Amino acid sequence: MHQSLETELLRVDGVRLNAGLDRMAAIGTNPDGSVCRRGFTEQDVEARILLSGWMKDAGLEVRIDTAGNLIGRLEGAVPGLPALVTGSHIDTVPTGGRYDGVLGVLAGLEIARTLHRRGRSLQHPFEVIAFADEESTMVGCKGMSGTASCDPSSFVTSNGKPIQDNLSMIGGDWSNLASARRSDDAIAAFVELHVEQGGVLEQRGDVIGTVDGVVGQKRFTVVIEGQANHAGTTPMNDRLDALAAAARVVLAVEQMAVEHPGDPVATVGRLQVWPNAANVVPGSVQLTVDLRDLDSSVLDQLSNTLMNALERIGESSGCAIRLDPQFDVAPTPADQTVKQAITASAGALGLKTSSLPSRASHDAQEIGRRWPMGMIFVPSRDGLSHSAGEFTEASHCEAGTQVLLDTLLRLDRTL
Ligand SMILES: [Zn+2]
Repeated sequence: MHQSLETELLRVDGVRLNAGLDRMAAIGTNPDGSVCRRGFTEQDVEARILLSGWMKDAGLEVRIDTAGNLIGRLEGAVPGLPALVTGSHIDTVPTGGRYDGVLGVLAGLEIARTLHRRGRSLQHPFEVIAFADEESTMVGCKGMSGTASCDPSSFVTSNGKPIQDNLSMIGGDWSNLASARRSDDAIAAFVELHVEQGGVLEQRGDVIGTVDGVVGQKRFTVVIEGQANHAGTTPMNDRLDALAAAARVVLAVEQMAVEHPGDPVATVGRLQVWPNAANVVPGSVQLTVDLRDLDSSVLDQLSNTLMNALERIGESSGCAIRLDPQFDVAPTPADQTVKQAITASAGALGLKTSSLPSRASHDAQEIGRRWPMGMIFVPSRDGLSHSAGEFTEASHCEAGTQVLLDTLLRLDRTL
């Protein structure tokens, strides 16, 4: 029978966990040591088959939902309770690292293996999920949370194929996507372990990060129309130089984030100049503005500041400046109960811990729109990610997984 979990320490196996990371990294290795395992490719399918076998061996019931999510489930000891869920993704960007996403999935697997070896279950059902195509369309987590668009053309896939074809390749089913949406009472909480992909924890000397939430993001295109003209014959006082105006926009965007009392980030990442010729006064410029913060009111403030700056720059430069919104993703705050469970678990293990926001997108951002969500970060060496240089120490991978297990056990007792 199920002995109380509180009476006994459950320890994850760090060697087994890290061996799994090595094995996964072998699927899609690039010559430079980075990993290319894009969603909906042969490599993605190979990794999913491998993972599916591991899940079954760990005593999980495995299925693929219509959004392409690979789900392993262990029924709980108490019938009728909602599930405690963990997971992340196993797809990568073209030059991905060995840890981004995979760690969170294999940590869930390691917990299943640890429970299985002891013949244990939780009170709640326990699920480990590899969400489909996190790095491109996020169709998996969006399908599960019911935030996916109904318009297939809105899913821009990395291989250019229709989302319908891509989903059927991995066992999903676009025509029944709605059935991937879980009910409100299906999930008690979702906890995702992920590498930080930034340098904050390393700088602080911390092993565990308790994530405050996933930042929201506003993206705009700014269009500046001046007048293309001869670079030699047009006097300085008779120009409508769109690039000179754009330069002031770039600096204004930087300044408004730097001067904000919080710590929002603002970026002009792309700039296109027409006609882009050495002997022509630039006639028009398009640039992108990307704003991110955990607080949607801060994002609204920054947007207003941006609009005022554009008006000012337009007036003084004489150029016509237009702001086109591209997208607006609301922040997803972490659930306080889940956050506290993470902090308490890390503290009990004697691990140096601090809290920080996630400035990158994660599956948790969509799942957290419907159910209580928490995220655990472990340090990324030199803050590197999405590259061959992505590295997290084996002991930190193990520590994060142990904190994940202890957090789930705490939530299992209290929720
Ligand atoms: Zn990731």
